[in-house]
Amino acid sequence: MSEVLRKKMQTATLVEKTVLGGGRLGVFKLKPDSGERWWYQAGQYTTLALDTANHGFVPRAYSIAGSPLDDGIIEFYIALVDNGQLTPTIFAQEVGAKFYYLSPKGKFTVAKANKKTLVMVSTGTGLAPFVAQIRTMWKSHHAGVPCPYRVVLFYGASYSDEFGYRDELTSYAAAKKDGFDFTFICTSSRPDATRGWNSSIAKGRVNEVVRHVFDWGIPEGRTVAMPEGVDAAELKAKVFANGAEDIAFLACGNPGMIEDIKEPIAHAGINTYLVEEFWKA
Ligand SMILES: Cc1cc2nc3c(=O)[nH]c(=O)nc-3n(C[C@H](O)[C@H](O)[C@H](O)COP(=O)(O)OP(=O)(O)OC[C@H]3O[C@@H](n4cnc5c(N)ncnc54)[C@H](O)[C@@H]3O)c2cc1C
Repeated sequence: MSEVLRKKMQTATLVEKTVLGGGRLGVFKLKPDSGERWWYQAGQYTTLALDTANHGFVPRAYSIAGSPLDDGIIEFYIALVDNGQLTPTIFAQEVGAKFYYLSPKGKFTVAKANKKTLVMVSTGTGLAPFVAQIRTMWKSHHAGVPCPYRVVLFYGASYSDEFGYRDELTSYAAAKKDGFDFTFICTSSRPDATRGWNSSIAKGRVNEVVRHVFDWGIPEGRTVAMPEGVDAAELKAKVFANGAEDIAFLACGNPGMIEDIKEPIAHAGINTYLVEEFWKA
């Protein structure tokens, strides 16, 4: 079975590995060995596989975090799962290692959402497809194709040193004067200053921050706080400026987060909710 799969796969070489979050998160950049450009749509995923010491040849799905407009490099944002079958082996790889990968798949794309106001909600490495989408919009915008979307991205992590891609996304959000309409909210469920929390980061679980912004109610006893200078009511008004029909929600990562906002989204009259679950609840 694994030999059948291996034969269907192509190989790529690890050209860059950046580890963050105390070694539990990694950005992995691969270069296809075929030398050919690999095309996919921002938001799609592929299957990566490696030979492992204890579990044989293990394939797993990974969202592609890079933009198809990057220079032929395939980028991934991966969390280390303790005792996981594949991720400990992925994290043990160094530059020069060979990975197997399959053709891109999936419909978690902006084209599928088909709305002009996009609210993206992610936990942890669930950020990956949104990096792909927003970087692609940014690159297109600066190549002379004005971005037609208004995008709000909520990004949740436990600790503030676990926000991969924060600098890149913050720089896009700071460029509103260029007509790139992007709002970026990081939120920490364990806001600890010794782990990098400061007042530019919201406090609370990402689904609860989303509930707070849109007045959808948060569980009794739970509190959230917006980042300094961000007004929840103004953000809600901005998202609803063209009515619920103009809005799509997209969520990726933890299945509990994805489920928690499902009903309030529908109740608000928003009928497009695309989800990418990384594992089953
Ligand atoms: C469409 C799709 C896209 C995905 N994209 C990504 C991605 O871009 N980045 C990424 O890190 N993972 C992603 N995943 C999850 C990935 O496929 C693996 O499940 C994960 O890397 C664990 O593999 P493993 O063999 O080490 O663990 P396994 O031995 O398979 O153990 C699986 C268990 O690990 C936990 N788990 C799985 N994923 C995560 C995670 N991201 N964070 C915390 N706990 C987790 C769950 O409890 C799950 O039941 C994606 C999954 C799907 C279905």
